[in-house]
Amino acid sequence: MLELVLATGNPHKVEELRAIFASIPEAGPHALGLRVIGLKDLPGHERFHEPKETGTTFEQNASIKAMSYAVQTGRICLADDSGLEVDALNKRPGVISSHYCTHGEETGLSREVRDQANNNRVLFELQGVPMMGRGARFVCVIALAEPFLPGEARLLARVRGEFEGRIGLPASETDDSSLAVPRGSNGFGYDPLFLAAPEFSRTGAELSPAEKNSLSHRANAARLLVPRLRALFSDGASLSGSGM
Ligand code: IMP
Repeated sequence: MLELVLATGNPHKVEELRAIFASIPEAGPHALGLRVIGLKDLPGHERFHEPKETGTTFEQNASIKAMSYAVQTGRICLADDSGLEVDALNKRPGVISSHYCTHGEETGLSREVRDQANNNRVLFELQGVPMMGRGARFVCVIALAEPFLPGEARLLARVRGEFEGRIGLPASETDDSSLAVPRGSNGFGYDPLFLAAPEFSRTGAELSPAEKNSLSHRANAARLLVPRLRALFSDGASLSGSGM
């Protein structure tokens, strides 16, 4: 069975992608003949280094990570980059979603503290924007790269999944409790602010993990990836010359 390395040291992300693949009938491990493993499953993983995410788009950052780890591991690697785009904020926070509160700078704050501060900043910047202007989406780009010449890698595929929603209103700006945020205790990041389409009645943090896994930007990206993986790796298709 061909192993794809998900370029993350976070075992939860590996589990999450496996769960998403398991929920797609054409992508179960036997259907595709692929298994997803994490960087920590590889010997010598302590020596791998995280590349700088210098891109200005999710596409660029996912590609930087997939190519860097394909070179470092000598294996076919998947990498994702994700974040929130808010229409009224010109698609910010975008690629600096994790560190929006510090304008993209990594400061060593804990994830919990950052999440709270990032959310406060988004709500502050949207002050006075009415509900209809608060469109937003989570985006996940997954890139797939293979080692090529020594010290080089090439991109085999890249897909973008989206999850539409709206940023709710702070309780101080609405009397309608169905629009008031933050709300919910599941999820992470901007989930408590994000009223998920199509009903816009529950936040990402009010969806069960199974519901989120079926609706999310990561799930949508994984769904788009499956036919690409089939074309690349099924029926003895060769790795080289497969294009994007
Ligand atoms: P990462 O690339 O998965 O680490 O995501 C980057 C940042 O985007 C996270 O730190 C969150 O702030 C935000 N983000 C990505 N996906 C989600 C999600 O599903 N819910 C809430 N926030 C998310």
